[in-house]
Amino acid sequence: MQDVYDVTIIGGGPAGLYSAFYSGLRGLKTKLIESQDQLGGKVLLYPEKLIWDIGGHPPILGEQFVKQLIAQAKTFDPTILTGTKVDYIERQEDNFVIHTALGDKHYSKTILLAVGGGIINPQKLTLEGAEKYEMTNLHYTVQSYQRFVDKEIIISGGGNAALDWAVELSPIAKNVTIVYRKETLSAHEATIKEALAAGVQIECNTTITKLSANTDKTAIQLVTCENSKTKQSYTRQIDEVIVSHGYNREASLTFEESMTIPKKDNYYYEGKATGETTQPGIFAAGDILSFEGKIHLLLGTFQDAANAVNSVKTYLEPTAYRNAVVSSHNEMFKEKNRSIIEKQLVHSN
Ligand SMILES: Cc1cc2nc3c(=O)[nH]c(=O)nc-3n(C[C@H](O)[C@H](O)[C@H](O)COP(=O)(O)OP(=O)(O)OC[C@H]3O[C@@H](n4cnc5c(N)ncnc54)[C@H](O)[C@@H]3O)c2cc1C
Repeated sequence: MQDVYDVTIIGGGPAGLYSAFYSGLRGLKTKLIESQDQLGGKVLLYPEKLIWDIGGHPPILGEQFVKQLIAQAKTFDPTILTGTKVDYIERQEDNFVIHTALGDKHYSKTILLAVGGGIINPQKLTLEGAEKYEMTNLHYTVQSYQRFVDKEIIISGGGNAALDWAVELSPIAKNVTIVYRKETLSAHEATIKEALAAGVQIECNTTITKLSANTDKTAIQLVTCENSKTKQSYTRQIDEVIVSHGYNREASLTFEESMTIPKKDNYYYEGKATGETTQPGIFAAGDILSFEGKIHLLLGTFQDAANAVNSVKTYLEPTAYRNAVVSSHNEMFKEKNRSIIEKQLVHSN
C-alpha cells in the first residue's frame, strides 16, 4: 500500500502552491497533484502581463510570479505530481482514495481542493489541419512578446483578451489586424478605443476560412478571410496568427455519491472562509471556493490557502493551535534564515 498523506492538494495554481508551502509550515505530510504538465494554474495564461495587485509586491510578470510561487511551494519538500488529472475521490474507512486519469490511486487523510477555474482549454480554430501549425505560428496564448516584433499579425476574436493583445502588440508589430465574426466587438469600450488609437485594423463580420502553408508546410503563410455580410473573401500574407475564442472548462473531478458538495452556479464549491466544505475532511481554497466576502484574486487565494490548511491541521489534531506561528518568529525557518543572512553578508562584502 502507498504512503498515506496528511493532506493531498488537488490543483497546482496559486492556491494549491501556497497551500503546499503553508501545509509544510504546519508540519503536514503533503502531496500536490496537478493535471497540467506545468504548475501555475491560470497565471500561465498571462506570463507576459505585469501583476500589480499583490500586497507589498512591486509589479511582477506572471511568468516570474509563477517561478516564485513554485519555489515557495517547494520550501518543505512536498511530493508534487504534474501531468496527473484527478478523476474521482472516494472515502474508504479512515482515508480518502484519489483516482487519477492515469489509473493510479493515492491515499490521504484529508483533501484540499484547489482546482480553481478547472482544467482550462482554449477553444481551437475548427479549420482542418490547423493543429499542425500550433508548433509554429498559430497561437492560443501570447507567451513571449519578443516573437511578434516586426511581424504581420492577425488576431481572431473580439473579446477583451483579443483586443488587449492587439493593444500590447501593436507598438512592436508591423501590423495588427483583428477579425471578428460578429457585427460588434464584445471587448470593453475603453480597450476598443485604445486599439483603434494604436492603429489596430478591426474587421467585423469576418472569419478566417483557410490557412495556407509555406513551401516546407511547417507554418502558415497565407490567411483567407471571409466577410459574412458581403460574402467577399481575401487572402493575405501573415507572419503570426493568434486565436482568442475563449476557453472551455473541462469538468474537473467527481466524488462518490455520498460525498457530494453543494455548488454555486453549478461549479463553485459552497464552503466557509475557513476552507471547510460540507464534507468532513474535504477543504477548499482559491477560485473554486465560494463564500460570502470571497475575493477571486491572487491575494484571496493566499488567505484561503492559509485558512484551509489551518482547518486541515485542527481537523487532524484538534488540540493544535488554529494558526501557525508567524514566520518572523518561527523556529522552522531558523536554519534557512541563517543561510540567507550568510549569503547576503558574502554579497555585501
Ligand atoms: C487573464 C487573467 C488575468 C488575471 N489577472 C490577475 C491579476 O492581475 N491579479 C490578480 O490578483 N488575479 C488575476 N487573475 C486571477 C487569478 O489568476 C486567479 O484568481 C488565480 O489564478 C486563482 O488561483 P487558483 O489556484 O484558485 O486556480 P487556478 O489558477 O485556476 O489553478 C487551478 C489549477 O488546478 C488544476 N486542476 C483543475 N482540475 C484538476 C484536476 N481534476 N486534477 C488535477 N489538477 C486540476 C488546473 O490545471 C490548474 O492548474 C487573472 C486571471 C486571468 C484569467
